[in-house]
Amino acid sequence: MTRHFRQLHRTSERLALVVATMLVIALTALTAVSGAAAEPAFSFDATPGKLPKTVVPIHYAIELKPNLETLALAGSEVVDIEVREPTARLVLNAENMTLSSATIDDGAQSARIALDNDAETATLTFPQPLTVGRHQLRIAFTARIAKSDSGLYVVDYPTDKGNKRMISSHLAPGDARRVFPCWDEPAFKATFALTVTVPRSFLAVSNMPVAREETLNATSKRVSFLPTPKMSSYLVQLTAGELEQISAEVDGVAVSVITTAGKRAQGRFALDSAIELLRYFNDYFAIRYPLPKLDLIAVPHGYVTAMEHWGAITFRESLLLFDPAASAGTARRNIFVLIAHEIAHQWFGNLVTMGWWNNLWLNEGFATWMEAKATEHFHPQWQTWLNGNEHKQSAMSQDARGTSRAIQHPVADETEASAMFDGITYYKAAAIVRMLEGYVGEDAFRAGLRRYMAEHAYGNTTTADLWRALEAASGKPVAAVAATFIEQAGVPLVVGETSCAGAEQRIVLRQERFTIGGPDAAPRRWQVPVAVGPLHALQAPETALLQDEPKQIAAGRCGEPVKLNPGDIGYYRVQYDAAARAALGRSFALMSPADRVNMLADGWALVEAGRASSPTYFELVEEIGSDDGRTVWEQVIRTVKRLDHLQRNRPERPAFQAYARAKLRPVLDRLTWDEPRPDADGAGPLRARLIRILGELGDEDVLAEARRRFAAFLRDPAALRPGLRDAVTHVVGLGADRRTYNTLLSLARKSTHSVERERYYSAAASARDPVLARDTLNLTLTDEVPSTLVDDVINTVASAGEQPDLAWAFVKRNFSALAAKQGSSFRDYFVSNFMQVFSDPARAAELASFAPVHATAGGRIVAARAEQAIRLDAELKARELPAIDIWIKRRNAGD
Ligand SMILES: [Zn+2]
Repeated sequence: MTRHFRQLHRTSERLALVVATMLVIALTALTAVSGAAAEPAFSFDATPGKLPKTVVPIHYAIELKPNLETLALAGSEVVDIEVREPTARLVLNAENMTLSSATIDDGAQSARIALDNDAETATLTFPQPLTVGRHQLRIAFTARIAKSDSGLYVVDYPTDKGNKRMISSHLAPGDARRVFPCWDEPAFKATFALTVTVPRSFLAVSNMPVAREETLNATSKRVSFLPTPKMSSYLVQLTAGELEQISAEVDGVAVSVITTAGKRAQGRFALDSAIELLRYFNDYFAIRYPLPKLDLIAVPHGYVTAMEHWGAITFRESLLLFDPAASAGTARRNIFVLIAHEIAHQWFGNLVTMGWWNNLWLNEGFATWMEAKATEHFHPQWQTWLNGNEHKQSAMSQDARGTSRAIQHPVADETEASAMFDGITYYKAAAIVRMLEGYVGEDAFRAGLRRYMAEHAYGNTTTADLWRALEAASGKPVAAVAATFIEQAGVPLVVGETSCAGAEQRIVLRQERFTIGGPDAAPRRWQVPVAVGPLHALQAPETALLQDEPKQIAAGRCGEPVKLNPGDIGYYRVQYDAAARAALGRSFALMSPADRVNMLADGWALVEAGRASSPTYFELVEEIGSDDGRTVWEQVIRTVKRLDHLQRNRPERPAFQAYARAKLRPVLDRLTWDEPRPDADGAGPLRARLIRILGELGDEDVLAEARRRFAAFLRDPAALRPGLRDAVTHVVGLGADRRTYNTLLSLARKSTHSVERERYYSAAASARDPVLARDTLNLTLTDEVPSTLVDDVINTVASAGEQPDLAWAFVKRNFSALAAKQGSSFRDYFVSNFMQVFSDPARAAELASFAPVHATAGGRIVAARAEQAIRLDAELKARELPAIDIWIKRRNAGD
């Protein structure tokens, strides 16, 4: 599953090669490390979860009759079960539904039914205990179809022929229980045969192909699907609507992109990508994709960006379809990566599944690593690892805080499981997997994964099972190496201090725990493979395994720059002494883009940690030339944006904005607004980002040019290239008056393209005029703004629109109405995420006392993280902004 829209970036083949070589060297040194992962191999009886394991499902035959008008769902199911020890009590999951009857073995016994909505269970008590062995359980039930993100839900979307309604489902991690009673934990794998009644004009899609279709009457039909392979309940999928498809066959598998009527041509790029990727994974895992078909379904305004349901992957329409007339050419990169992620899950997650959510990283860390690996294979020019640096940085930032957790972490219930879908599970884990692949070598790593898939196909695993397969294939102690990064939270800091003995330079390395806002955090130790590189790749970097004791290493001639973590491969921060830092600063322009990004990112992280002051970072920024690459400038833009946000309401903000404009404007001037070959030079994403930030920083020329181009676009849409439309519309939205605001809204209302609707609603929400902001907020209570956009629209009013107080007052006043409309994830997570727009301790306290966010265990975890983030921002503001004021004054005075 992927929750967040990913920005894609570029990396060089040469760099990747250097990196791979370095890692092998770095990690070979680790073979001597002893110690083993504490976790045992998977065992069904020992795996965590709440349901008793005395009864297990074997096969479900489920019949659903959704009513798309009343949103009632009538259902019945026959479940073949295996009773493992005699019991009269069956406990399974059911939530927000009514069970009218439950009988066993053709009515031999009827159960007394007790529902527990808090535990989300149904307890069925039979007069006589069931004997050990096979039985058949028959249940009749009624449930509700949602208008939001959990279970079976309806989607209303505009078309040229008026508004239409379709149905889709999202059951991960624990919402199958809202659609049919079931053993809704990943270790209870079973086969599922679904039958559904839908309107005759609908195409119904599930995990497996249609087995049978029969017409019931003039308006409806009954569609039965073939049974699935053995799988977890969270992977069940049902989508139905006025849909169409384009298809192709790959190695005997029918691959299709399914869209709403009239849009299938926009699925061509996705289909071509899926064909390439399915072949790639068939070969990589050496187990053929086991289902007869693979559908990629575009859901207009889908809730989660994408979800890997076996054989029927769902995507938010705007992230799967590509229309050259409406989307930036670079959107293809995001589409390709997202498809790679979800197809990788067909093995990692679907064929072999983590036993419980504490090992979610086995699904998500691997799919995230695999998306980059597969994309580098097909499109090396996109530089996926380098350009994905932003994600690694945000995971490291989260990991340095007291509210972080280990990749492998206890999970009590499904709300805590939802809170696990974060940067640690996705991006820290992917970075560690990349490091491990380097350690065991690409071929041995693949052999280990093939072994793991073959041994555990259709089953469940723990991390220990993976280590075992990798150790067997590589002969290396993988578990011991990985344990310090997988089983404990936190980021190592490598401190490097140079010294001279005659002409010879030495560097002494030692490790500490890198923390943000945790001066009293308990010390921790890692096995850190530290690479020590010269600036030029002529010599191989030397590597040292840093453990408890400091290490001293020869580092060239005295005064020569010494770079640690060359290529930015390692998962650690680096702090240099003043002399080493100065030598590196002088050589900044000679470094590879990955090394420059690494220096800037570590430099800024040290400021956030209170280990360095802001001028050390800004002095490094002064060394960047306007001709530098995208990822380097994007690191600067992120920092500028963060600081500009903290500057809000300060009298010194205009001086900061003037400094930032002076740094960034020459980069845009060099790129120019137009490019000779649209979206082909890789500068497109940086150009768009520069236009946005310069608009936000109040650059008058950029604001005027954006307005000019928008006016031309209104006269003739072809006048504005798709690659510039998001940025130009955003900038126009910031300064919108009533007339422009109404124009943006009418463009949103008119469009049937998800990409365009998102663009125009977002631009309208960016308006800084408080009267318009109020109107935008009120729109979120109506049916006009799709539920999937409501969170973004409110957040945009607060952030880009700079009306956080107005937006917060609105959220508090309308919390019940919004929560009812938006569903459980809004109740659990929205407010905590939203409140991070503030950097005032009073708001952290207010969040701590805002009762609804503490209703679930997962909600409490996310709220605690958010409170800490707000307090840390307040500290950063108090500590660093005055130092930045002084630095800018001195710079302006020419000191
Ligand atoms: Zn995923």
